[in-house]
Amino acid sequence: MRLSDIVAKIQAMSGSSNVRTRFAPSPTGYLHLGHVVNALYVWKIARPLGGEVVLRLENHDLTRCKPEYERALLDDLEWLGFAPDLGKLAEFRAGPCDYRQSDCHAHYELAKAQLMARGLVYACDCSRKRILGRTMQPEQEDLRYDGHCRERGLQDGPGMTLRLRLPEMEVEFEDVLIGRQSQSPSLEIGDFAIRDNHGHWTYQFAVVVDDIRHGINLIVRGMDILSSTGRQIILASLLGQVRQPIYLHHPLLVDGEGRKLSKRDFATDIHHRFLAGESAETVLSEAAKLAGWQE
Ligand code: GLU
Ligand code: ZN
Repeated sequence: MRLSDIVAKIQAMSGSSNVRTRFAPSPTGYLHLGHVVNALYVWKIARPLGGEVVLRLENHDLTRCKPEYERALLDDLEWLGFAPDLGKLAEFRAGPCDYRQSDCHAHYELAKAQLMARGLVYACDCSRKRILGRTMQPEQEDLRYDGHCRERGLQDGPGMTLRLRLPEMEVEFEDVLIGRQSQSPSLEIGDFAIRDNHGHWTYQFAVVVDDIRHGINLIVRGMDILSSTGRQIILASLLGQVRQPIYLHHPLLVDGEGRKLSKRDFATDIHHRFLAGESAETVLSEAAKLAGWQE
């Protein structure tokens, strides 16, 4: 789909509301070309709509995110000319900030307390191994949970996972690029974790709390996250979100054989290209070409 058609479609879908979208990288490594493609989508859609872009640093996984990657990421965005309207680079550089997840525990605690008061979360002490043993599913990052601890009434505490009691329902949403989608999270993934057994808020939980409190009404991200959207929509509505955001999941970078390219496949990540004195234009036009927007 051409960029101008994407913009026109979102304009029609958003009606009179002002668009606010976000770029939400996790600083678990240096910025790579896939991030630049995502950032291009975000900014090139937001700007013609007169919309705002929030930069959010999703460092909920404190074991993998490093301040050094965050500093590099901010420098790279500046170099490439991606200027956020909220969560400005200077704010991040100055210290604690409302757009960096590790500075926002109070918000997650509050959202958790809201769910807890309504009996919507419960403690679980199942290890991955036990879940795998009971459910006979293949080993994969996102395990489907079988609801084992739903009615056990376990006390929350150190080492406990907190799970959302997912209603059984089908969720529908319209994706700007790929059209109508339907997902059944209670069957596909089961009661997912909002906080893991190390006490870290999960991506699924933090991203929903943040999209709500940051007033995000347009979510532009890679296709690898498509399968998470249904559960995020349910969680958002349990947290009181009235209007579903507009979703656009864009293709990921692929190699000649159509395989997804990952960080490892890029010999030189963006930060090293910056340090090597390459021009930002070269990187940007490479990313535009990969997005299918030859300019
Ligand atoms: N932080 C996620 C990532 O870097 C993106 C989250 C999202 O866009 O919902 O993969
Ligand atoms: Zn359990």
